[in-house]
Amino acid sequence: MTRELEGKVGLVTGGTSGIGRDTAVLFARAGAKVVVSGRREPEGKETVELVSAAGGDGLFVKADVSKASEVDALIQKAVERFGRLDIAFNNAGIEGVWVPIIKQSEEDWDRTSDINLKGVWLCLKYEIRQMLKQGGGGAIVNMASINGLIGAAGAAAYSASKHGVMGLTKAAALETARSRIRINAVCPAVIETPMRERLFDAPLVHKYVLSCHPIGRFGRPTEIAEAVVWMCSDRASFMTGQSLVLDGGFLAGQNSPS
Ligand code: NAD
Repeated sequence: MTRELEGKVGLVTGGTSGIGRDTAVLFARAGAKVVVSGRREPEGKETVELVSAAGGDGLFVKADVSKASEVDALIQKAVERFGRLDIAFNNAGIEGVWVPIIKQSEEDWDRTSDINLKGVWLCLKYEIRQMLKQGGGGAIVNMASINGLIGAAGAAAYSASKHGVMGLTKAAALETARSRIRINAVCPAVIETPMRERLFDAPLVHKYVLSCHPIGRFGRPTEIAEAVVWMCSDRASFMTGQSLVLDGGFLAGQNSPS
């Protein structure tokens, strides 16, 4: 990998596992200093060790993205340690409970939108404030999903939160375009992470969901991380307010399981 993020300071939320962890490592390999955030301290520190092993400089900051005071403190700690913030991957998210709407609790609806949607909004708010304070410039990628583009029966709260991320991304990009802060979203299909294991491990479900990926396999976290590094780099300098779908052909073959 070329060192296309050399000298930049990056933040990854939900960096304690899955896609976030691999992105933190690729940020480091591309030359960025990396702030890894999440709620689980031991796993966060493990990610920082992986960042160090990749030759990078990392810091773990414990924060729950659904709490304004914690996100505010996260950005302050990042700036205290590394002096600035140039790139961010707002990746933290949960699947919530996948049940039909008529069985969904208000508590689960609130938790899913608080983390997946309000969490991204809070991160944007404090990240953009910091980037403007530095005089503008920067790149932010929000984690959506193919469920930000299509619905899934039994996943109303999750789908609604990810569709919300798509709208938020466009509005935020319009607000910051003149300040040279680019804001985009990434929309993966199913990726091999702990979330995939929690959702699709039952053999019949696994077989069906796999059949929706014409490429014949689920994605790897690093395949999303590669795209996020590119979107955060100056090579993506004309991309803002957009989303990148990485889905092994899922949406192209939506009505024809293969
Ligand atoms: P994961 O469960 O391994 O990672 C989710 C991360 O978010 C974890 O580190 C978790 O601790 C963190 N997190 C959850 N709630 C948080 C909170 N309140 N504050 C801070 N951190 C919190 O799963 P993953 O698949 O790597 O998921 C990462 C993102 O990718 C999620 O937003 C998910 O919706 C999205 N996504 C995943 C897939 C998939 O198939 N795995 C597909 C599309 C989108």
